[in-house]
Amino acid sequence: MTFDEFGLNDKILEAISYMGYEKASDIQELTIPSILKGDDILACAQTGTGKTAAFVLPILDHLAVEDNHNLSTLIIVPTRELAIQINQQIQGFSYFLNINSITVYGGRDGADWDAECKALTKGTNIIVATPGKLISHLNLGYVRFDKIKHVVLDEADRMLDIGFYDDIMRILSYVPEDRQTLMFSATMPQKIRELASKILRNPVEFSTSISKPAEGVLQAAYVVHENQKIAVINSLISNKPDLDSILVFSSTKRKVNEIVKNLKRAGNVVEGISSDLEQKEREDVVMRFRSKRTRVLVATDVLSRGIDIKDINLIINFDVPGSAEDYVHRVGRTARADKTGIAISLINEMDMEKFDRIEKLIEMEVLKIPVPSELGEGPVYKVRPPRKGGRPQGKRNYSSGKKPDRRNSNPA
Ligand code: AMP
Repeated sequence: MTFDEFGLNDKILEAISYMGYEKASDIQELTIPSILKGDDILACAQTGTGKTAAFVLPILDHLAVEDNHNLSTLIIVPTRELAIQINQQIQGFSYFLNINSITVYGGRDGADWDAECKALTKGTNIIVATPGKLISHLNLGYVRFDKIKHVVLDEADRMLDIGFYDDIMRILSYVPEDRQTLMFSATMPQKIRELASKILRNPVEFSTSISKPAEGVLQAAYVVHENQKIAVINSLISNKPDLDSILVFSSTKRKVNEIVKNLKRAGNVVEGISSDLEQKEREDVVMRFRSKRTRVLVATDVLSRGIDIKDINLIINFDVPGSAEDYVHRVGRTARADKTGIAISLINEMDMEKFDRIEKLIEMEVLKIPVPSELGEGPVYKVRPPRKGGRPQGKRNYSSGKKPDRRNSNPA
């Protein structure tokens, strides 16, 4: 389906064509007509499916005809990075319209606070905010949400995981009940349904493939000892100039630093990002990675949700994420919008059960590749014995038959 078939405003169509979008993605095709009609919606869509444009375009279409300076749209998101990214898309799509938007998130200086205050009191049209910072403004009593007509909750599952439930409810208590509310979530656990039942009115539900990585991602895994991981990564990426944008995920901040150190030692251009960095440093690191000055970025899960960096060709899960949903989000950083990409997980003895749960969630067995023979033997892949009706399980040895070679391995 093309975008003009939705009957969107001409100026928005012009911006879409400048962005180079030719056809609507599945989630856009499903949700845009409903949002244009004014329905509340509950959409299950993972990142990389084009969900941002799915809510931004019809909202801009509404605002384009309203022609006033009221603060009429509030978009609530879990992280600063996602706020910045959504705002960039809004500014792109509204390039030919007289519509203003601003981000509101924590960790910035006094000048930004002043700009936020001004926008919150004197009228910007759209605010993209993280809950905590918005609450700080609300606490000071000058924020007027009485003209808000559209509310979007993006990455709603992530917001609940972080513990934003009370903040969300408090923010919504300032917004008129007569509004359109759009809720997007990558997963649909019971707590999301409960939140939806409290804040949506007769929502229309949409879903693109639930909790599964995009189809263009080739997923594979190495079953390795912890001290083989760095050597496996080096063997994967050395002498492969085509792999110019590689994202490595680790669950802890401490490990991020160790991985960066070890990959640097092998001559890679690598940087790390975690919530330890100041906001400005985080933005600079992301910018260098985005522009491909940094080939390898090592990140905690801060980056795994919502962040849109084009053309990442390889994702490496240095460790298996704690929740199966996080796996889907991490892997969703590659193969965005019809592209292809590779996601490799490194599974040690401790992570086998976790990985088994992920395979159940994504309903597929991920290909296990033998550890390159020069790196020695990997552990035996062992998961809990047979489930009724499930695929056969038990011991599988994916190693190439040698003992681990300690000389080649860097403990990470
Ligand atoms: P999102 O899921 O919103 O994070 O979008 C992922 C990426 O897909 C972003 O880089 C968008 O610019 C891009 N995108 C969204 N919709 C389309 C489309 N219809 N055609 C091509 N690219 C798109």
